[in-house]
Amino acid sequence: MQARNQNNKRGWDNCGLCPLCKREQESVAHLFYKCRYTLRLWEMLKVWLRLDTMDITTWPGERSIKDWWTRMSSATRVHRKAMASLTMLVSWTIWNE
Ligand SMILES: [Zn+2]
Repeated sequence: MQARNQNNKRGWDNCGLCPLCKREQESVAHLFYKCRYTLRLWEMLKVWLRLDTMDITTWPGERSIKDWWTRMSSATRVHRKAMASLTMLVSWTIWNE
């Protein structure tokens, strides 16, 4: 109950819609790799870090976060730990938008 009130104060009281695009139903999968805002952020990182092997366009079709993560971390030659940190950072940034 306490947490719910705090969420409402932070502007998350939007009928379960994504706080970024306000078009799709909010879910962890959506926030991580399906939202167009998230994908735009990743597209910039891709160019910046030269992650040419990373194909963001297939992401919205992934069935689960596990599938997405497995494909994403195997497609990139960046060190797994660095990729994990980057993902955390991106997610954190999105979460705090
Ligand atoms: Zn969204």
